[in-house]
Amino acid sequence: MSDFDIVIVGGGIAGASLGAEIAAQRRTLIIEAESQCGYHSTGRSAAFWLESYGGPDVAKLTSASRDFLDSPPSEFADSGFLHTRGDVHVSDGDWPEVPDGIRAERLDRQQLEQLVPGIRPRWTRALFEPGCADIDVAGLHAAYLRQFRKQGGAVATSSRIQSAQRRGDRWSVSLDDGSSIAASLIVDAAGAWADPVAEACGVQPLGIEPKRRTMAQVKVGRTGLKALPLVDDAAGTFYFKGESDSSIWLSPHDEIETDPCDAAPDEIDIAIAIDRFQSVVDWPVERIERKWAGLRSFAPDRLPVYGFDSRADGFFWCAGQGGFGIQTAPAAAKMAASVLLDEPPEEMVAHVDPGIFSPKRFA
Ligand SMILES: Cc1cc2nc3c(=O)[nH]c(=O)nc-3n(C[C@H](O)[C@H](O)[C@H](O)COP(=O)(O)OP(=O)(O)OC[C@H]3O[C@@H](n4cnc5c(N)ncnc54)[C@H](O)[C@@H]3O)c2cc1C
Repeated sequence: MSDFDIVIVGGGIAGASLGAEIAAQRRTLIIEAESQCGYHSTGRSAAFWLESYGGPDVAKLTSASRDFLDSPPSEFADSGFLHTRGDVHVSDGDWPEVPDGIRAERLDRQQLEQLVPGIRPRWTRALFEPGCADIDVAGLHAAYLRQFRKQGGAVATSSRIQSAQRRGDRWSVSLDDGSSIAASLIVDAAGAWADPVAEACGVQPLGIEPKRRTMAQVKVGRTGLKALPLVDDAAGTFYFKGESDSSIWLSPHDEIETDPCDAAPDEIDIAIAIDRFQSVVDWPVERIERKWAGLRSFAPDRLPVYGFDSRADGFFWCAGQGGFGIQTAPAAAKMAASVLLDEPPEEMVAHVDPGIFSPKRFA
């Protein structure tokens, strides 16, 4: 039986980033059920960093991650992962709002039409959040896995945890190929499967629910769109951003309850997305170039969960990253690592109280 200090279940951005923070100090193994890490939510995101997204507590982790994403240490990556785009929040009612402390400015009609040409008259109010940026998600995820391995971490793909038993101060972890692993700690970074993985370890689930979100790459009869800002509405019914000169990424901002699965888009949700898009701008839709869906998983209070389970010894949650798991990853991983290793937090997260995200809030 192979022997580790820590087994991380899940090789998406959550498992990879936390792994990279701890591998130098603990013998760590990431087990990933799929043949490649990043196959599920991490590989299906809309890839933006938006400081106002997810409310004030999530914003603490998003803001704290910005400098790292912009200019990471040279031993981590040669260049940054962000490309600034800006976000226009539009409304056909009250002024859109962002949490206190986040830079945003109201736009007049002329400014709005300059940023979103062809926007329909119904959208009377708009707020511009200039800091919004695209994230190179594949590059970031690969850099975390590279760092993890460089520090001595091991990755086992096509390795699904089936069950785990705690005996004394050690876990015995059984995989579905019949092999087993011994470890002192299990980290649950299994995304949409966070609750089922906990149950497989005999740990009470927290009520983390996966919700499906649909995306489409749409070719439209207009050019000059590559740098189009992210455009979303205050009521949360759509967003889109430029992809190439004449195509956009579009989402109906859906949240469809589902069991954990290999999510696929439903035609009706694509149709809803296009209908909503056409209520925003007068651009003709030519064809759907690509469509996909992914799962965003939320704890009951929609905050992520980082910390030791209050009832099960040696079980650490790293789950519930909702729609912000990429943009918060650098700070969240450093904060979670300090709790997991019982070490003082690094400067990046010294001002963030990890208690906000502890699973003990559900006890
Ligand atoms: C459409 C969409 C748009 C999004 N847009 C953004 C965005 O713009 N910005 C942003 O920051 N976030 C965004 N997100 C959210 C972000 O993608 C997620 O928060 C993040 O990817 C979650 O990472 P994760 O590692 O927890 O999950 P995952 O990437 O799903 O990784 C979990 C892994 O655990 C593995 N696993 C599960 N069960 C087992 C088991 N029994 N044994 C071993 N391995 C197991 C799975 O195979 C999976 O690879 C978006 C999500 C979606 C779906």
